[in-house]
Amino acid sequence: MGKAYLFAPGPTPIPPEVLLAMGRPIIHHRTPQFRRLFKEVREGLKYVFQTEQPVIVLASSGTGAMEAAVSNLFSPGDEAVVVRGGKFGERWGEICEAFGVRTVNIDVEWGKAVDPQDVERALKTHSRVKAVMWQASETSTGVMHPTKELGTLCQRYGALSVVDGITAIGVFDVPMDKWGLDVVVSGSQKAFMLPPGLAFIALSEKAWSSVERAKCPRYYFDLAKERSSQEKGDTAYTPAVSMIMGLKVSLELIREEGLPNVFARHAVLARAARESMVALGLELLAPESPSDAVTAVKVPPGVDGAAIVSTMRERYGITIAGGQSRLKGKIFRLSHMGYISKADMILAIGVVEVALRELGFEVELGRGVAKAQEVLFGS
Ligand SMILES: *Cc1c(COP(=O)(O)O)cnc(C)c1O
Repeated sequence: MGKAYLFAPGPTPIPPEVLLAMGRPIIHHRTPQFRRLFKEVREGLKYVFQTEQPVIVLASSGTGAMEAAVSNLFSPGDEAVVVRGGKFGERWGEICEAFGVRTVNIDVEWGKAVDPQDVERALKTHSRVKAVMWQASETSTGVMHPTKELGTLCQRYGALSVVDGITAIGVFDVPMDKWGLDVVVSGSQKAFMLPPGLAFIALSEKAWSSVERAKCPRYYFDLAKERSSQEKGDTAYTPAVSMIMGLKVSLELIREEGLPNVFARHAVLARAARESMVALGLELLAPESPSDAVTAVKVPPGVDGAAIVSTMRERYGITIAGGQSRLKGKIFRLSHMGYISKADMILAIGVVEVALRELGFEVELGRGVAKAQEVLFGS
């Protein structure tokens, strides 16, 4: 029997009502019908991003919105501070490099959150810096960076805050307008409970005025052009119509549950994951500032890290993620983002125990599950 479960930090499971919506006959995008749908979606996105600004929808994976942020905000030769505490932090740096934006890198040990003082020091010593770029949730290490504090620093030093919220938006509270964040990006295959293929980006008024002056080359990801089309209910190019039909439903699900409840659910699932892994005698990669999207667990000595992932997937149909680049084989990552229930967590944790035991790590079966039951369902 091939029943499969996703506990990877993207793609995440998709609710059946979203799948059904995407399976409906496609509609044409230059019609009143699509414009009505898109208007609703744009309102729903504002709710989830917690902003009054338009949230631009792009047909790409999340990285497309990251690239759009760089190419639309900067001119070649501009300077940006980049927090590099994992694979996605490095990606900000790589995109900047591709567009000729100079970076002041703040290298953070993988598994740790950035110290705002280090960012402040960089802002003090580099007066030309135009923006600071970081991940609200660094998915490769399971770390939450201090977005509120960094946003405040950016305001104090007159730099734009550019936040990769791809595994933060819809997971934990990142109120864009309230915290005065300038750019927030996200993507469909994480907490939005959709397949990969849509990216989202919202800009503050200050960021929009930078867009007018920025000279980096761009064509497909021209945010000013998209904004003027999308305000009219259109998109500059053919939109991913079926995915937008699904997005309407997933946004309704988020609104029905209510953002505070969505955040509380992720928080308790994440706590269950962390505490159960510790109860099994495992060590967390990011115990101090963990993200509620994904839990990164150190592979215990003597166990083959890649085998934990493949055993769970091939024998038991449960897909978790391994480590990326320098963390390859050293960690496994259990995601609890998106369409995941308390009962789902019990299942995943139970199978982690079984896989670890099969690979020669001594575990008392049920110990992690019992801890998770306690956290999730009370004593
Ligand atoms: C998934 C993810 C991305 C985007 O990756 P894509 O493969 O382009 O969708 C970017 N940043 C973070 C933190 C992510 O988790």
